[in-house]
Amino acid sequence: MKRIQLLDKEFSLSIPASDIKRAIWLMADKINRDLKDKNPLMVCILNGSFMFSADLMKLIEFPCQISFVKLASYEGMGSTGKVKELIGFNEELKGRTVVLLEDIVDTGVTVENSVKQLLQTGASEVIVATLLYKPDACKREVKLDYIGLEIPNDFIVGYGLDYDGYGRNLPDIYSLVK
Ligand code: 5GP
Ligand code: MG
Repeated sequence: MKRIQLLDKEFSLSIPASDIKRAIWLMADKINRDLKDKNPLMVCILNGSFMFSADLMKLIEFPCQISFVKLASYEGMGSTGKVKELIGFNEELKGRTVVLLEDIVDTGVTVENSVKQLLQTGASEVIVATLLYKPDACKREVKLDYIGLEIPNDFIVGYGLDYDGYGRNLPDIYSLVK
């Protein structure tokens, strides 16, 4: 099994790029069918979902817009339980169907907060599309409309996800070797 080192931690290959690609293709296929008449505004939650958002957007076949919001709830390898909004939503949201693009739903706090903020800002409907979901870690009642892959409750890096800023460039996903 392929292993990599990031700072002081070792990680082993967990999800190869080909599996990620397939999961995104299947999700895009559903979104293309479900949302084509809704003129949705896609919202990419930075930093983690930049790569997922870019790859998904290339497969969307109807006219749509994308906006970016920067949130952070993780420090090092654990969720702080609090979500800071670092860059706000600046697109006109009123009455729009918004599709939240998340890299991973862990405790569910980020998604819960983001959905709340988007509805408060005037979105008529918020649809959540997450590449990865850790069902065993999720403590919140969050409605996830599109899930790429369900994964165990391990700390992972790669494909946009980082360990203290490193590893986002990796095309595959790796999990921490304990
Ligand atoms: P939540 O608010 O659901 O606990 O966490 C959401 C955010 O925490 C994700 O968008 C992601 O940025 C970060 N996160 C959650 N699990 C992991 C993980 O296993 N690895 C990394 N690198 N980030 C994670
Ligand atoms: Mg994220």
